[in-house]
Amino acid sequence: MGNEINHQVRLAARPAGTPAPEVWQHVTGPVPEPGPGRFIVRVSHLSLDPAMRGWINEGGSYAPPVELGSVMRALGLGRVVASEHPDYAVGDTVTGFVGVQDYVETDGTGLRKVTPAEGVPTERYLALLGMTGLTAYFGLFDVGAVAEGDTVVVSGAAGAVGSVVGQLARIAGARVIGIAGGPEKTGWVTGELGFDAAIDYRSEDVSARLAELAPDGVNVYFDNVGGEILEAVLDRLAMHARIVLCGAISQYNAEGGMAGPRNYMNLLVYRSRMEGFLVGDYAARWGEAVEKLAGWLAEGRLHSREDVVDGTVDDFPETFLRLFRGENTGKLVLRLRSE
Ligand code: NAP
Repeated sequence: MGNEINHQVRLAARPAGTPAPEVWQHVTGPVPEPGPGRFIVRVSHLSLDPAMRGWINEGGSYAPPVELGSVMRALGLGRVVASEHPDYAVGDTVTGFVGVQDYVETDGTGLRKVTPAEGVPTERYLALLGMTGLTAYFGLFDVGAVAEGDTVVVSGAAGAVGSVVGQLARIAGARVIGIAGGPEKTGWVTGELGFDAAIDYRSEDVSARLAELAPDGVNVYFDNVGGEILEAVLDRLAMHARIVLCGAISQYNAEGGMAGPRNYMNLLVYRSRMEGFLVGDYAARWGEAVEKLAGWLAEGRLHSREDVVDGTVDDFPETFLRLFRGENTGKLVLRLRSE
């Protein structure tokens, strides 16, 4: 395609612990022409997701591992710039698995079209109106079975998924306690987002604060972080509590295996359940959920915050690490500058 250059970030080595710069290889090449039944997307936004850390492990996770030498797998969004595909025209906006690269040549597998509404920032389709919002929606309503009057605790509360979970729980008539790192984050969730309370796990004793804030126990715990915070909540369950196992970011870079909860027998004591889920399993119902989320957003009952970093695909490795340092508030997105 003309003289354009395609910058890519490929996986060069499997990381031990936090991915070092040597894990990645920066490659440039020509932009391909689309083959029959295929099209080219110019990627404009990359979604930074904690799950990407699991994708580069040897054993993979729920998805096969990214092969050494391959373009790093990533969700993102972009526009069709050339097409030999009957269903995709130049100018269409698509979202899904694009990879860490400027241009993707594809038959459309793993992508879907979106029609951006006027006045809605494009990055929101990777946030509240995309995978993030869908994760919060199905995790809380389907897996967590949240009900009016419940006490809900969510960790990673000022992150992409957690910030939506707390707001949805409020809409459901629950009392919401968020757990996040630092006073700015706790202030944001109890302020603009309307959570009932928040715990700063970096400066406060989580167990002691949970005892104060949830004296009758926790009905739903939406777990984004695992580790010690999961243990603290397991010690404060209400009878028949539901723990939504969404993720365990505190453990993703752990060397020598993940720490499991020492007190999991509380699930038996409190006749509770802990259930993992994957947002992809709900693909058939994504349309229904996005409609609801967009409706609440339009009514002002939901707020979406995107933490946008402007850069190039070469900024991916460093931007990715912000997730593990707690440097994002809301959904972390890398917006790609056109050269
Ligand atoms: P995110 O919460 O926006 O970003 C990560 C946040 O995690 C950071 O800002 C940081 O906030 C917190 N964090 C990092 N290290 C931590 C640690 N050691 N202890 C406690 N908190 C830590 O990311 P997200 O995209 O919304 O993802 C949240 C979780 O959901 C992840 O576990 C992810 O894997 C999972 N997820 C699952 C699905 C699914 O289908 N099951 C889909 C999407 C995401 P603080 O400043 O508060 O520490």
